[in-house]
Amino acid sequence: MQQYIEEAEKVLMHTYNRYKIVFDHGEGVYLYDTDGKKYLDFAAGIAVFALGYGNQEYNDSLKAQIDKVLHISNLFYSIPSLEAAVKLQKASGMDQVFFTSSGTEAIEGAVKLARKYYYKKHGISNSQIISMNQSFHGRSMGALSITGTKKYRDAFEPLIGGVVFADFNDLESVKKLIQENTCAVILETVQGEGGLYPANKEFLQGVRKLCDEKDIILILDEIQCGMGRTGTMFAYEQFGIKPDIVTAAKALGCGVPVGAFAATQKVAQAFEPGDHGTTYGGNPFVTAAVSKVFDLFESEKILDNVNAVGAYLTVKLEELVQKHDIIKERRGLGLMQGLEFTIPVKDLVPKIMERGLILIAAGANVIRFVPPLIITKKDVDEMIKILDQCLIEMK
Ligand SMILES: *Cc1c(COP(=O)(O)O)cnc(C)c1O
Repeated sequence: MQQYIEEAEKVLMHTYNRYKIVFDHGEGVYLYDTDGKKYLDFAAGIAVFALGYGNQEYNDSLKAQIDKVLHISNLFYSIPSLEAAVKLQKASGMDQVFFTSSGTEAIEGAVKLARKYYYKKHGISNSQIISMNQSFHGRSMGALSITGTKKYRDAFEPLIGGVVFADFNDLESVKKLIQENTCAVILETVQGEGGLYPANKEFLQGVRKLCDEKDIILILDEIQCGMGRTGTMFAYEQFGIKPDIVTAAKALGCGVPVGAFAATQKVAQAFEPGDHGTTYGGNPFVTAAVSKVFDLFESEKILDNVNAVGAYLTVKLEELVQKHDIIKERRGLGLMQGLEFTIPVKDLVPKIMERGLILIAAGANVIRFVPPLIITKKDVDEMIKILDQCLIEMK
């Protein structure tokens, strides 16, 4: 493995401090490195591989689509993109869908749509967007502009203008920032990279009400927390509200590069031909995957599993909080949870990996649990046992 790693470090730009593992293949909830060592995977490629590795039905549907046609461009129609759009429309409660090739691009599209909606209504284009501190929306110039972590943004200024930041779960701080020209409020229903913070109900309902009163577009970024991870297909279902635009990606295609933003009819109609586009976005290959993912979520009763195993994970993580002083608290919903430590976790994570468990951080002090959504209670027990042992040895 060492040789692969050294060679890779020469040819790949150093934008990540990668963990020193070269993965070869996966099976169910396990990954195997090139030396044949087995790892229980509680990261799922950063909340992507919801169905686990090697789901035969999923793999077969992709292979079949490869033999038909991979790509046709958005100048034409395809059955997979139609079917995937109908399934996403139903699951999200939105009316119209635009497929992209990543989460970041879904954010770009959502922001453009919100601005276009404002422009169409007012005939001017100087609108303002309210985003949240500690949020994460992606790395392109547009998505970075609304990402509420200053250190990600600083080196790349000037970014797009007209963006201001409120405090997550602080309704007053949002209210204070609203102006005549506010076109959108964007937030993650459960903040992921920022450290696994769910929105609280009064806050999200309050923001929804503010937006309704002033015809401001509410964009919910469910790229990480959507697609069943919190126990409902989209996390906002648990808050009794709906956004005007929702973004999805990560588990949407379970491994193929696909994202989407979906909007209500009222908002979506602001886009006219020529306003937005993509060559790859929503091609037959990736949308065949999306379509199959929705089918498998139903046939394999994924949401039931998330609710059962998510509740069990909560109990087991709370036990660890009680047992170990260096854990401050547990946060999160369903199979999207985190443990905040009193100390940085960057030395702990590689130790856990050495013991055959993949867990990743979310910020300096938080370990994140975003496993495949097919995990069982037994897998949770195995994970807890390894983590507990590492924590005992750290003392
Ligand atoms: C991962 C993520 C993104 C960016 O998605 P990419 O597919 O990496 O471009 C945006 N928002 C949230 C909440 C995310 O977790």
